Amino acid sequence: REARQSPGNFAIFTGNLDRDCNRNLSLVAELHHAIADEQLRLYCQPKVDIATGIPCGAEALVRWAHPEHGLIGPDRFIKMAEKAGLITPLTNWVLGEAFRQVYTWQSDGIAVPLAINLSTRDLLDSRLVDRIRGLFLTWGVDAGNVQFEITESALLEDPRGSLETLKRLRDLGVHLAIDDFGTGFSSLTYLQRLPTDSIKIDQSFVGRMLEHEGSDAIVRSTIDLGHDLGLSVIAEGVEDQATWTRLAALKCDVAQGYFISQPLPAEEFASWHLPEDMFHATLH
Ligand code: C2E
Ligand code: MG
Ligand code: MG
Ligand code: MG
Repeated sequence: REARQSPGNFAIFTGNLDRDCNRNLSLVAELHHAIADEQLRLYCQPKVDIATGIPCGAEALVRWAHPEHGLIGPDRFIKMAEKAGLITPLTNWVLGEAFRQVYTWQSDGIAVPLAINLSTRDLLDSRLVDRIRGLFLTWGVDAGNVQFEITESALLEDPRGSLETLKRLRDLGVHLAIDDFGTGFSSLTYLQRLPTDSIKIDQSFVGRMLEHEGSDAIVRSTIDLGHDLGLSVIAEGVEDQATWTRLAALKCDVAQGYFISQPLPAEEFASWHLPEDMFHATLH
């Protein structure tokens, strides 16, 4: 009778839950430490102008070099950092590192506009813009070499507050992009009021556009919408030549993805070159 109650299964189930829970709890505690302990790394992924094949910037993507678990991607700790109240120190680390990198490139005579991702919480932080203004004063970098990416869904958490923050950022002279566009259901009225320079089409549409007519239609109409609003359009998640060619035919402005390059450690970025054969293949 005891066996039919299956206490063992129950124990196994809670055991797994506990393990996951404990793992996340310890990750939170460790993340706190990791920020101060120099365990975060800034990777950079190049963006390329589709019409000319010329690199036109990079996106800063944070990673956590965990001493035991190896390199952990942001999808595993950004949300957690937001919930645990750690996003401000994390964003401050990313901002400091990104400005230092732009300064280094600028000193070496390289102009690489570097795009920094901001999270929902960052947009609601009233001191964010002053901190960024302070970084400009500290590093003396050109506003043209710093960009910000804000996801469409982050904007929708507090549309009015976000709009204010975007306007204040824009006043600093930086370039703004709406990230993961097409996944957040923002209204066209709202989009039209946003002080943005570009939109990034979410990789879920770009990745499927060749097999799925619906995705191709979304990519196509987003490019046209962006252009009609006077915005530059970036496709993220470009993984192959055929997708690049299709995007070129649709007059998409900029491409980013594994076809061009994986995100690279910031130090390696300056010596990165577009593969010569790809360069020839892509120009029409
Ligand atoms: P995102 O801003 O949309 O960044 C694009 C993600 O797609 C990156 O994932 C990038 O490595 C990945 N990716 C690039 N090319 C390809 C491709 O060809 N195919 C596929 N399947 N994926 C590609 P990653 O680095 O894991 O970052 C995930 C998300 O975490 C980012 O999405 C961004 O929202 C967030 N994130 C990254 N760094 C930061 C940061 O410093 N601060 C904040 N707040 N969020 C960050
Ligand atoms: Mg981004
Ligand atoms: Mg994106
Ligand atoms: Mg994305």
